[in-house]
Amino acid sequence: MTKGLTRVLFPIMILSMVAGCGSEKAVDKAVEKQETSPAKSVHKAHWSYEGDTSPEHWAELDQLFTTCKVGKAQSPINILEDKVKDVESLSPIKVEYSPSKVSIVNNGHTIQANLNNSNNKITLEGKTYTLQQFHFHLPSEHEVNGSHADMELHFVHKDEEGKLAVLSVLITKGAENAELNKIWSMIPAEENEEGVEIEGDFDMNKLLPADLHSFRYQGSLTTPPCTEGVQWIVLESPVPWSAEQINKFKAIFPHDNRPVQPLGAREVDTDN
Ligand SMILES: [Zn+2]
Repeated sequence: MTKGLTRVLFPIMILSMVAGCGSEKAVDKAVEKQETSPAKSVHKAHWSYEGDTSPEHWAELDQLFTTCKVGKAQSPINILEDKVKDVESLSPIKVEYSPSKVSIVNNGHTIQANLNNSNNKITLEGKTYTLQQFHFHLPSEHEVNGSHADMELHFVHKDEEGKLAVLSVLITKGAENAELNKIWSMIPAEENEEGVEIEGDFDMNKLLPADLHSFRYQGSLTTPPCTEGVQWIVLESPVPWSAEQINKFKAIFPHDNRPVQPLGAREVDTDN
């Protein structure tokens, strides 16, 4: 990519990052603000998890997706627990979520809940990030010791400079999650542009485990354009959902996980 082209595309790339992984609708919104940009159409490139537009082909689908192939710090990864570095100085993340209005979208890649306020935050080593949206993958994108969990939930946050931090929760089959039913009872089976606002407030805390110890590493969006510079926080404790809840998502998205990517020179840390 030439320097000139980078200058033209850079604002678009940042807008894409703000949208977070799986956030096609938010990307569209961001792109709407760039009506005059010649790069507008490139974000319409179709990508999927199957066939000719599956993860191994993402980089071929659009010039802006090149990082999906050439990136050296891609997500997800396989977390090998005996290679994880226990870092004394890291403390568990602080989560400050409060019951909020959320709008549910089927963006063709996943079910996504968009927040309409900026009251929900996480703090990581003194840096605060605000929750933008959360969405789901089946099976999990991250592996732990080579094994997938049944599903994975991504809470996508952004700091004041636009840097992203994704808090990931692994989901395993077990007891029902009652709070989830507020979203699951109204998920659109077909792709929809307009969000459907749920009745009442949704409490994101009820999708979290009690223990917030985590694996930390530097990675990327797990969907095109696979932008790097994303701080990942993968909670070590999974959360149970019922088989029925998992199957309801599976009926719409049989699988929507990017395969694990090479760790390369990176290390995975844990907090204390
Ligand atoms: Zn995701």
